[in-house]
Amino acid sequence: MSLPRRFLAGLQTAQVWIVLGVLAPLGMLLVSGFMLYDLRRDMWARADEASRSLLQVIETDIARNVAVTDLALRGMVEKVQSPLVAAAPEALRRLVLFDPVATADGAGVLVLFDEHGYGILNSRYPSGAGGSFADRDYFQVHRLNPEAGLYISKPFESRMSGAYTVAFSRRISKPDGSFGGVAVATLRLSHFTRLLARVGLERGSSINLIRQDGIQIVRFPYDVRDVGTDIGGTSSLRRVIAERQGRFTARAHRDGVLRRYTFTQVGDLPLFLSIGISTEEIEAGWRAKAVMIGVTLLALFGLAVLLALLCGRELRRRSAVEAELARLSLTDGLTGLPNRRRFDEALRRAAEDARDDRPLALLIVDADHFKRFNDRHGHAVGDEILRGLAQHLTAAIHRPHDLLCRIGGEEFAVILPETDAEGAARVAERLHAAAAAVSVGPAGIPAGAVTVSIGLAVAVGPRAQAELYRAADAALYAAKNAGRDRTCRAESCRADTRPAAHLRLVATASGTAAAP
Ligand code: GH3
Ligand code: MG
Ligand code: MG
Repeated sequence: MSLPRRFLAGLQTAQVWIVLGVLAPLGMLLVSGFMLYDLRRDMWARADEASRSLLQVIETDIARNVAVTDLALRGMVEKVQSPLVAAAPEALRRLVLFDPVATADGAGVLVLFDEHGYGILNSRYPSGAGGSFADRDYFQVHRLNPEAGLYISKPFESRMSGAYTVAFSRRISKPDGSFGGVAVATLRLSHFTRLLARVGLERGSSINLIRQDGIQIVRFPYDVRDVGTDIGGTSSLRRVIAERQGRFTARAHRDGVLRRYTFTQVGDLPLFLSIGISTEEIEAGWRAKAVMIGVTLLALFGLAVLLALLCGRELRRRSAVEAELARLSLTDGLTGLPNRRRFDEALRRAAEDARDDRPLALLIVDADHFKRFNDRHGHAVGDEILRGLAQHLTAAIHRPHDLLCRIGGEEFAVILPETDAEGAARVAERLHAAAAAVSVGPAGIPAGAVTVSIGLAVAVGPRAQAELYRAADAALYAAKNAGRDRTCRAESCRADTRPAAHLRLVATASGTAAAP
């Protein structure tokens, strides 16, 4: 069979259909899985990019505000030490010392404290208001450390306004270097929350402004409980401080939400800004698509597998029907024995396989005077006798490779591979006995009433089936002529000799000799 034909024939087997029916949708599932995975990666990349840009905008804004505030503080520190300024009236000193840009949005005040923590000049409130502020961290830091530079305080509740505030401060040193007070610029946390609110964060996401030591200045969405909390011990913050800029995914200590954090240091200040986008939010759109595609694909997969299984079952049913038809075409309907077609095929094969040292024997068995049974008892009883004969003859055949067939109306044949004349004669004897055992009680046919005549021939060497058959048939004819109920045998039968010419029939134990 050519390759394409073999391929097409292969396609018709149930297994191939089932395998294809499973493999094809499986491939589809794999490709779609990869596409979904890719889509998910895209979503994450886009979320990272969006966070990065947002972070940059906020960071720039805060860094610029702090820079402006610091400029104002530096100006205050520088000018307050001038004797000219010290001598000027308060209104003038305010004008000189307080840069209006630093307090332009009204979210903070500028204050000058003396070395005892009393406000000596305030951009909004009267001098000395609120008493001493020496307890504030910004005051203590500068008093103890001349090198503190710009200090960003912990967030606190303002004594003056009651609002949560953060202070930026610088030390004022006297000419001899000793502590002379503090210049402070305060900024209400609401300044940050307004800024962050404008960003429009997704649900479940957050922005944090944290001091380098882990003190949280403000968190958005705003909750007063977050103000000033110390998260310095968390591994996430340690990572932020160590890396200064980057991103990672972690579960938040505060609310247990898994977030994608993008973080950066604010300028070169000891401040860090981070945006945490809830991973649920990042994947929400993707998940909806994935579920839709996944469910559709699984349904298609199931359908394809079901179709493949149904197809496979149908093919299996068809092959079973074909096999049964093939079996029936080779089987005799009345007796269930192999029929003439099967016999011809089996004899051809057996003859092909026959070797000089392995002779092939053939027996043709014909019921004697069978017509009489039919005439006397009716055709149905004749059928009953034939079935009985088939049964008894089958029982007389013992070797698995011996084959009994019904090759005509009341005619049977037995192929005996690797059997010589003596062996075949012994089988023939058993067949006579088997026929004699047939009886049909209801019809009054007793055992011994049915007899058979048998023609026996043996072929030596391959491809002699036609001669073998003719020889056995002639031997049967001789047996009939010799008086029936006996076996006659052809002595030998070869493919290279003319039919019948070599035949020499001899009598068996129960028969008489006859010549062709
Ligand atoms: P002989 O001893 O010479 O073989 O005589 P015979 O009557 O057996 O042979 P003959 O060839 O004259 O007749 C065979 C008979 O077998 C004829 C037919 O009615 C009968 N027969 C053939 N096939 C069937 C069958 O399937 N059922 C029945 N009941 N009878 C059949
Ligand atoms: Mg007959
Ligand atoms: Mg006959």
